[in-house]
Amino acid sequence: MTVLAFENIVRYYRNGHNVLDGVGFEVQAGEVVGLLGRNGAGKTTLIQIALGVLRAQSGTVSVFGLDPAVDPMAVKQQVGYVSEDQILPEFLKVSEVLTLHRGLFPGWDADLEKELLTRFEIRTGAKIKELSKGEARQVALLCAVAHRPKLLLLDEPAGGLDPAVRREFLETSIQLLNDAGTTILFSSHYMTDVERMAGRIVMLHSGKILVDDALDNLQERFSMVLLPLEDGMTEERARALPGCIAVRRRNGSIHAILRMGREEGLQAVRQAVGAEGIRCETIPLEEMFIELLGGQP
Ligand code: ATP
Repeated sequence: MTVLAFENIVRYYRNGHNVLDGVGFEVQAGEVVGLLGRNGAGKTTLIQIALGVLRAQSGTVSVFGLDPAVDPMAVKQQVGYVSEDQILPEFLKVSEVLTLHRGLFPGWDADLEKELLTRFEIRTGAKIKELSKGEARQVALLCAVAHRPKLLLLDEPAGGLDPAVRREFLETSIQLLNDAGTTILFSSHYMTDVERMAGRIVMLHSGKILVDDALDNLQERFSMVLLPLEDGMTEERARALPGCIAVRRRNGSIHAILRMGREEGLQAVRQAVGAEGIRCETIPLEEMFIELLGGQP
């Protein structure tokens, strides 16, 4: 079942270029999609359009078959949302924020609320302004998930959180996912988090989708070959290898990023340069991000 569908979304701001310039993809029930892109690529803009907070100048978005700009309340009932700069009412106590949310969502799960309060060790008597950034985000996450949404939209939810809290935060999201088949779209600059959580990657670049693929497939499409500097290997020769998209010199060897999988890459390089002692490895997502998006503004 399609939970979220963007079709040919175009969005620009006044006097600006198209931040989103024909973006389209669908997210199926139970999928966990990592939305990646450099600063300013339009991730927040896209998530805001899914929430109905922003409208696209053209194109359509549907959440559970509804247009969030037309039917915001019906959509919000089924969606949980957490962002980096989400502002909870500062002068309210945590307990008051929870009461507010309980009233807003008929599907509020009091047991889950209790479990998360214990797990995050949240002080319900404290005012929001008395909490640290990370503690306030935990309250926001609790509010986003305790009504058991069918779709979770997370916009850079882990920014500014310490590694232990980030892990806890992710595990909470994953647990919810496992329990209820929740669909998740999340943007993040923490590639290790994305690798842990996402089954699929959507990369935005220059207003378009540069990559939309399962994480496993992506890792099968790129590899890095390590070439010893002996045998007359130079950066120039490495750059001429089949499928080579980037070259770096590291610790007495040359690293060449290839647009092909590990096995294929190894064969191609052996054929091209006949070198012994070369190795070919899969590329961590962070390297892939830098190679695919890093060089371009
Ligand atoms: P980041 O990774 O830094 O959070 P992002 O991918 O979420 O970035 P957006 O926040 O969607 O990017 O911004 C995309 C572009 O739209 C940026 O160039 C930004 O300057 C511009 N933009 C966003 N909001 C507005 C606004 N209210 N008015 C004008 N321009 C805006």
